Amino acid sequence: MPPTPESAPAPDTGQRRDGFRLLAVHAHPDDESSKGAAASAMYVADGARVCVVSCTGGERGDVLNEALKDDPHIQRDIAQVRRDEMAAAAAALGVEHVWLGFVDSGLPEGDPLPPLPEGCFALEPISVTTEALVRVIREFRPHVVTTYDEHGGYPHPDHIMTHTVSMSAFAAAGDPAAYPHAGQPWQPLKLYYNQTHSGGRIRAFHEALLAEGLDSPYGEWVEHIERRGQRHVTTRVPCAEFFAARDRALLAHATQVDPEGSWFKMPRELERSVWPTEDFEAALSYVPIIEVEDDLFAGLPSVAEADEMATRQGLTLVFDGRVAV
Ligand SMILES: [Zn+2]
Repeated sequence: MPPTPESAPAPDTGQRRDGFRLLAVHAHPDDESSKGAAASAMYVADGARVCVVSCTGGERGDVLNEALKDDPHIQRDIAQVRRDEMAAAAAALGVEHVWLGFVDSGLPEGDPLPPLPEGCFALEPISVTTEALVRVIREFRPHVVTTYDEHGGYPHPDHIMTHTVSMSAFAAAGDPAAYPHAGQPWQPLKLYYNQTHSGGRIRAFHEALLAEGLDSPYGEWVEHIERRGQRHVTTRVPCAEFFAARDRALLAHATQVDPEGSWFKMPRELERSVWPTEDFEAALSYVPIIEVEDDLFAGLPSVAEADEMATRQGLTLVFDGRVAV
């Protein structure tokens, strides 16, 4: 059921998140700005620390902004351009940022599909990529981790691998026997999948645009998402006040985001009234998941108690929403 302004939970502006930490794991620079970005900016404004991890440098991304396609500066060094764009996006959201350091696998196209390029993220041994993320987790010590669902949210090999590596690192980070040279054990307490682009939301956008007599670019996207089946959204975070910060972060990725493109076809006032939340699906948790949550930190004790839990051995999962594949 889509949230309406009446039924959506009110933003909890009275409660500061000082000391809480959220790690958002993404495949490429720009994914952090299109999935969960407004929620990230809101948590930062509310006192939490938010760190975005980009697993790859996005080196194989095409220039998707028509206005920049023939820019010689961009063609000379797309990797540096994307690093600069990422720094600007992180500043727009107020988040910290870490490169995991792997190479973009690219999106293979053709029939049959060509093999993935040697040395790319999706072909790295899982122990290598997991250790890299475990190191980040043990250093940043997040209470909550977000990543993609088992389909990657969309079928790019780096997105699917981001899911696989996140699950593997979430399982290993608290285990003193796993990757002993990658820092002191730290068990994040909750793990969520981004479901910002749920079928429900894109359909609501599509129908709202048509109802206003406007063109909708979302028809095909709705069909595509709905063919994949419904996801179980557990958590809707009200963050419409931060959609403007999300838009600034998206636009910072100038090579990837066309200001005239589909990200910006939904009038912002209409978006705020139709779907004022960013949504997540709880996958694993060491604290209870309430139905329906409005906060990724819901159910956690105080920061000091959560820190103590995260370093305790022998914790038991109390929620497992993973989908068998
Ligand atoms: Zn991506």
